[in-house]
Amino acid sequence: MNPKVFETPIDYLKGTGTARATALKKELNIHDFSDLLHHYPFKYIDRTQFYKIKDIQPDLPFVQVIARLRHKELMGEKQTKRLVAQLQDDTGVIELVWFQGIKWIEKSLTIGKAYIIFGKPAVFNGKPQMAHPEIELYAPELLKRKGNLTLQPVYNSTEKLKPFLLDSKGLQKLTAALLEQHAKEIEETLPTYLLQQYTLTDRPAAYRNIHFPVDANALFEAQHRLKFEELFTIQLKLLKNKLLRTQKFKGNVFGQVGHYFNTFYNEILPFNLTNAQKRVLKEIRKDTQRGVQMNRLLQGDVGSGKTVVALMSILLAIDNGFQTCLMAPTEILANQHYQSVKHLVGDNFVTVALLTGSTKQKDRRLLHEQLESGELKILIGTHALIEDKVQFQNLGFVVIDEQHRFGVEQRAKLWRKNTVPPHVLVMTATPIPRTLAMTLYGDLDISVIDELPAGRKPIETLHVYENQRLALFGRMKREIALGRQIYIVYPLIQESEKLDLKNLMDGWEVLSREFPVPDYQISIVHGKMPAKDKEFEMQRFVKGETQLMVATTVIEVGVNVPNASVMVIENAERFGLSQLHQLRGRVGRGAEQSYCILMSSPKLSREAKVRLDTMVRTNNGFEISEIDLQLRGPGNIEGTQQSGVLDLKLANLATDQELLLKARKAVEDIFEKDPQLALPENQVLQQALLAKREGLSWDKIS
Ligand code: ADP
Ligand code: MG
Repeated sequence: MNPKVFETPIDYLKGTGTARATALKKELNIHDFSDLLHHYPFKYIDRTQFYKIKDIQPDLPFVQVIARLRHKELMGEKQTKRLVAQLQDDTGVIELVWFQGIKWIEKSLTIGKAYIIFGKPAVFNGKPQMAHPEIELYAPELLKRKGNLTLQPVYNSTEKLKPFLLDSKGLQKLTAALLEQHAKEIEETLPTYLLQQYTLTDRPAAYRNIHFPVDANALFEAQHRLKFEELFTIQLKLLKNKLLRTQKFKGNVFGQVGHYFNTFYNEILPFNLTNAQKRVLKEIRKDTQRGVQMNRLLQGDVGSGKTVVALMSILLAIDNGFQTCLMAPTEILANQHYQSVKHLVGDNFVTVALLTGSTKQKDRRLLHEQLESGELKILIGTHALIEDKVQFQNLGFVVIDEQHRFGVEQRAKLWRKNTVPPHVLVMTATPIPRTLAMTLYGDLDISVIDELPAGRKPIETLHVYENQRLALFGRMKREIALGRQIYIVYPLIQESEKLDLKNLMDGWEVLSREFPVPDYQISIVHGKMPAKDKEFEMQRFVKGETQLMVATTVIEVGVNVPNASVMVIENAERFGLSQLHQLRGRVGRGAEQSYCILMSSPKLSREAKVRLDTMVRTNNGFEISEIDLQLRGPGNIEGTQQSGVLDLKLANLATDQELLLKARKAVEDIFEKDPQLALPENQVLQQALLAKREGLSWDKIS
């Protein structure tokens, strides 16, 4: 597109004027020609068909009728003042009513003439009626609609734009004017060979047809082309970033597998790795031998064995003379990683330390010394370890747990801790669908552990209604008698925090009566408690002093209590799918059969029913996230909020997955052949890389 022309402020569009331009900017964020061109219709109304009056029913959407005016009359007083008209065709009579602009409309209507009327039908006193229809004098050539009004675009507008005559109709006129004056200046942005290869319509035609489609097929082609371009441009930028990074940063070469890795693998590791774990380790091994910095995302359900893979990669780095660190988003998590790593490697095998906000000054000093001398090989911690005063002798490998809690800036700080940036492995236990990952983390390499260790009993999930609560209590008592522990989780939704807290306290009271001291002990944790008390209650449960843990979703992240075998989720219909799945992941960590009980009211929305049924049917996090994506759309998937990447105007990552895969493939092919985009036919792509799209914040991704 000719940037100069389309950057013209909207004020300069013929027929706009300052007042309307100001309103457009304020209400619809339309500042220049390009913004208007990209204010796409949100639906289209079919104007190819005409109805007979006898066929009109109130449940029809907008309809079009040709009829002759036989009567018109101004009726009522003040508030109820209205214009009523009766029109007739060879099958019946329809009544039209207007409450606004009635003088002007009344004057323009002539008895005896035929009109094309268009509006939403209703039935009033048993007779067909339309309020505020569009009406225009009939002329035979209008039936052909000059080939451009068969599908009428409908635009989003606002109440405040109406006084400026900028309702959908007004926006339509403005857009028509823009296209009439400047369509010729719309330039192609995709290489010709790409248009041919993927049979895409050209750009000027796409813009014309998305606003004023000649027919349904032209509209489809236009949308297809513009969606492709949206997805293609994102992938182009992501893969370009990735390419630049590999060109700019050298990577440490982990050439050898040595003492640490081998001893751990052959003598310490108490189980066999799953095939998925082996595959991911191979991927990491390959990455770290190429002399290029690794940036890899490791996805896998809770308990799939990511930490073990991370630890073995860490040992590989140590074998090659490097130090390593593992960063977790909370102190509890950091602590748990520290404990489980210590547990896995045993004493005296490798030096491991923990650094969090609560590490004492005295210990810190020692720790800093050991880091700077290179003596300390593995540092586990929270944000505390990215502080500038934490200096490594030779940091070579970084593991980041729970990706979306850390910003890019924090990751960059870790990079700067060595002259050659360390390899980075990001772990996340929130599986997201492949297409979403491709967009959110499109410039990272992605590894997936899609297999649980053998012998793990799948968690059994049950959906239970309130009237079965007594049976549930019985089951809980039996589990406790077997020495197990139980979570009972209540929803916490900000708007009704008070109510939620009441829910939780009521539930706790019922439980205290059902599970009385001294036979039973109950921990309680909720958002309104001081952190110290939370930690105390949590610890009682971790240590096994309490059998029941009543909590709001604060337990969602992290805690590992292998002895807990039952997760009861109250008001389960109020949780999102990924939340339910995360919660369920808190149990099933030991050898025993675990259960997840979803309590709900019997009245469920269709969507809630799908969610709960899905939970009962499958334990597979990827399958669940796929359904979540279909149900809620990409913007609501855990971990994607505020990532402008998903503000797509046309494409939808849930429904346009196939197109995304095509766009990705197209970009990969291009960079394969022409990594510098130096070929003449690829010059247009350089422009696409420079172009800024509003709403997109590229610094948010990786
Ligand atoms: P994640 O980090 O993916 O949640 P972990 O690495 O913490 O998973 O592993 C969960 C539990 O399973 C740990 O107790 C770990 O020791 C164990 N584990 C990991 N891999 C295997 C395996 N291949 N076979 C048996 N147990 C495993
Ligand atoms: Mg883990």
